[in-house]
Amino acid sequence: MTKTTPPSTIALDGPAASGKSTLGQSLANALGYLFFDTGIMYRAVTWIALSRDMDLRDEDMITQLAQGAQIDIRPPSQTDGRSCDIVIGDKDVTWDIRSSEVDANVSVVSAYAGVRKALSEQQRRIGLRGKVVMVGRDIGTVVLPEADLKIYLDASTEERAKRRHDELIARGEQADYADILEKVIERDRLDSSRAVAPLRPADDAVIIDSDKMDAGQVVARVLELCK
Ligand code: C5P
Repeated sequence: MTKTTPPSTIALDGPAASGKSTLGQSLANALGYLFFDTGIMYRAVTWIALSRDMDLRDEDMITQLAQGAQIDIRPPSQTDGRSCDIVIGDKDVTWDIRSSEVDANVSVVSAYAGVRKALSEQQRRIGLRGKVVMVGRDIGTVVLPEADLKIYLDASTEERAKRRHDELIARGEQADYADILEKVIERDRLDSSRAVAPLRPADDAVIIDSDKMDAGQVVARVLELCK
């Protein structure tokens, strides 16, 4: 019997709140790989810009910020649902980068070509080491087009808004479903329509619609594809 090796680089893309992080983390755990959520980097740059009161429309300034940003990703220091600590300077911003203010502004920042170049070069360098599950919007199309396995995880907008809503409630935060739905639609619109690296499945991606699947079923399906 021949023994097959699992794919070494796994690209996992999809729209907002489609369950990419949950799937990516579970896959990485099952395979003993690094889990790398690239959205963290775009969120971190956005958070720094907002915390410094910078004008997000100033593309040159935001690009310079992305080029010099020191974003530290460390093992989790707390058991509050985080998969890692995100540290900027000496501040733990793990949850700050998931705020609704960052949600509302991150797509403006991530549409800038210079920002994408600075961040995706770092992502590619890490991805090429292999044994990685990399999650984002353009991993299969731009960051790691040679990835061994490409997954595009989709779900209806309503289902994704519901999941994001339940996630916020579980964290003890305020959440309004209609408001979340509107914001998810707007973020997808911006991410899919930008000129550079728009959100779309790679031609050779396996598209999974998770509307009628729970998280465990999605993981099982992708592990099957890894065999
Ligand atoms: O995945 P997450 O929702 O955390 O991503 C936040 C935002 O970062 C996305 O809405 C998108 O604008 C941007 N992003 C991106 N390319 C990636 C990952 C995230 O443009 N590879």
